[in-house]
Amino acid sequence: MEVFIQMDYSVLSSVLKPPRHDPMTYPLTNHDYDRYSGLVRAIVHDIAEVDVLDYPRLDVILRRHSLPEGGCFSKRMVLQVYRKLCADGMMELDPTIVEKLQTKKTRTISGVAPVTVLTKPHPCPGKCIFCPTDVRLPKSYVDDEPGVQRALRRDFDPFQQVHDRIHAFNRNGHATDKIELLILGGTWSSYPRSYQEWFIQRCMDAMNGFEQEEESESLAQAHAINETATHRNVGLVIETRPDHISPKEIRWLRGLGVTKIQMGIQSLDDRILDMNNRGHSVAQAQTAMNMMRAAGFKVVLHWMPNLYGATPESDYEDFQRLFDDPNFRPDELKIYPCSLLENAELYEYWEKGKWQPYGDAELFDLVARCKKHVEPYCRINRVFRDIPAQHIVTGCTKGNLREHVRWLMEERGESCRCIRCKETRGATINADELALRVIEYDGGQSDEQFLAFRLPDERIAGYLRLSMPRDDQSFDLGVDALKDAALVREVHVYGRALALGVKGESTAQHLGLGTQLLQEAEKRSRDAGYRRLAIIASVGTRGYYGDRGYHLDGTYMVRDL
Ligand code: SF4
Repeated sequence: MEVFIQMDYSVLSSVLKPPRHDPMTYPLTNHDYDRYSGLVRAIVHDIAEVDVLDYPRLDVILRRHSLPEGGCFSKRMVLQVYRKLCADGMMELDPTIVEKLQTKKTRTISGVAPVTVLTKPHPCPGKCIFCPTDVRLPKSYVDDEPGVQRALRRDFDPFQQVHDRIHAFNRNGHATDKIELLILGGTWSSYPRSYQEWFIQRCMDAMNGFEQEEESESLAQAHAINETATHRNVGLVIETRPDHISPKEIRWLRGLGVTKIQMGIQSLDDRILDMNNRGHSVAQAQTAMNMMRAAGFKVVLHWMPNLYGATPESDYEDFQRLFDDPNFRPDELKIYPCSLLENAELYEYWEKGKWQPYGDAELFDLVARCKKHVEPYCRINRVFRDIPAQHIVTGCTKGNLREHVRWLMEERGESCRCIRCKETRGATINADELALRVIEYDGGQSDEQFLAFRLPDERIAGYLRLSMPRDDQSFDLGVDALKDAALVREVHVYGRALALGVKGESTAQHLGLGTQLLQEAEKRSRDAGYRRLAIIASVGTRGYYGDRGYHLDGTYMVRDL
């Protein structure tokens, strides 16, 4: 027997409509604030009484003080009214309440708020056959990635993009006093320098609390203001290509305040690079890597399995070279398996049967084998580029590829040793259990040391990257501040982003690990015969290092040993 059900679509649309009181959709009015203030006071009072605000407890509290018109407050609504009451002097801001009401906690769990912005469309010097082209966007991006949507809405305006992100973090209860700025969009170094300078200056203006129509006089002024601003820049990341790195470019990037570079190398095989029209060689990537390390940058490499001409076996060998060759050994890595996008040249190769994507099982196996080979000083940030599935003509669309790989490794009794898999994040830490462990490795033209405070189960609460350049470097960066100096390339201590001055007592960020790591780096550098220690400090952390005896020399914070 067939049964026909007539669907009432008006019911469905009312279910799908956002709730009337979601402030993301309908901003609260003054009238709303007046009506809700008493209820929110009561909710905040009840929240203050509980140590841990898990979902069942929150549910009980919100039901106890429900909306006058029926239904319950969302966390975001409570937070918004609470902030307004505090701003009006009707309540005192308690950061622990804000933390309990945070949504999307993982966004800032590594200790800083990441703000991603996109540059305007601009031709890329690369002609890579796998890279999509959309003239409305910077090269390699597709129009419905979330970051791209945000940039399009703001016509790629840097000020408004940063401003929007800071407000979104605040609405969700996250502290934004420490911001890592990630600038995406093709090859940064190919944009006119005047645009690069203006773009970063306007990002800084937004972090410095300027109004949209206000503009700082220069990038130098914007940097100076940011040293003590409410939203301090604690990291600045750009993307570029190996053939754009030179001593001159390095000095320029430091002048802009860049601290981390994402560089696409994609393969360590000249034959594969040629076949995919990359336009640079492995030797160029090695030289670029050594220069960036010598200048103290953190380096994120992008590597692509399944390129035209590659096989799972050749990819596996290629990946091993990333860690076997001292000239690479990246600090962080993004693995982006090649997928076919319609507006990429690779489409023709696929149509002619010259290229095929690996099957999912084949890809999981390859990435699992690769991950086993990762050294503990490296962080695997991504194993999949999150392109909306509708753009992928063929290739893996498993957004949770990392989980599939983890399950496979668990089945095989294996685990990944990378930093991301060992972070304590916001976990409670017993300081007595922490031990300082050091990994020393050859960095091509420097001796590298990875100092980490670890728990007995190997989890990392904080780490420091120390770089000791060798005398026989094959290039001269022309940076006076680095003469006779060892370098601190990164200090990272975990813990959810709390506003400066707010103690999250059990999280790693507030156990003084940063200072201890720095003191150990000073001792080791002195013992190795270096007369100075230089830190590639972003403008917003200069004050922190200034308090620890460092002074500004060029674009580095330096102290004599
Ligand atoms: S260099 Fe990067 S952005 Fe440019 S074409 Fe190649 S992959 Fe695309």
